[in-house]
Amino acid sequence: MQIIEIYKSLQGESSYTGLPCVFVRTAGCNLRCVWCDSEYTFKGGQRMSRNEVEREVWKLSPDGGLVEITGGEPLLQEGEVVPLMENLLVKGYTVLIETSGERLLNKVPEPVVKIVDVKCPHSGEGGTFRLENLQYLTTRDELKFVLASRKDYEFARDFIREHDLSARVASAILSPAFRKDAAGARDVSHCLLDPRDLAEWMLADGLHARLGLQIHKFIWEPSRKGV
Ligand code: SF4
Repeated sequence: MQIIEIYKSLQGESSYTGLPCVFVRTAGCNLRCVWCDSEYTFKGGQRMSRNEVEREVWKLSPDGGLVEITGGEPLLQEGEVVPLMENLLVKGYTVLIETSGERLLNKVPEPVVKIVDVKCPHSGEGGTFRLENLQYLTTRDELKFVLASRKDYEFARDFIREHDLSARVASAILSPAFRKDAAGARDVSHCLLDPRDLAEWMLADGLHARLGLQIHKFIWEPSRKGV
């Protein structure tokens, strides 16, 4: 499979935030979100066998723990990524996959925690979420909405309510988009949507959802890779 990087850091998003995690970042994405912070994954990387990937994961975390398969879009390499996830589960890892919602989830092993984006209007990729994916989600999984505006928030709020996400998944996460050119200061001035506005809107609407900040961008320099 084509791999950009494998590294260990703290999980920066989802309800696993703050926990040590090995990240397997695959190459290639078929979407082009305007605020994407992973454009370096679109090309390049190195060819690695499943065994080589598993060995790297084991070296970084020999005693089990969290492994996230991310990208790019990992399900573009489904034929290799699915057996990789199956092997990691057998070895006792808790496996997460972060995916755009545009790829069908039917082949993802059921015990894998799926963290699935629903692209909002200002991403430039609105409408790409495949509604049939809702049937493959369990109460272990999470749906994530990255927001750049009030319009994005209203889209997410209405989607959460229309599809009764609070009953369907572990968390619906609303996360302010980060500026692509964010550098230097590690604070909310880089968010395209002020988290305080988002918090107030959620509370005013009584929305059953989780506000998520990408904590790695507050711990390390925002444009730093491999964290
Ligand atoms: S789906 Fe993810 S990797 Fe692909 S363009 Fe959007 S944010 Fe970037």
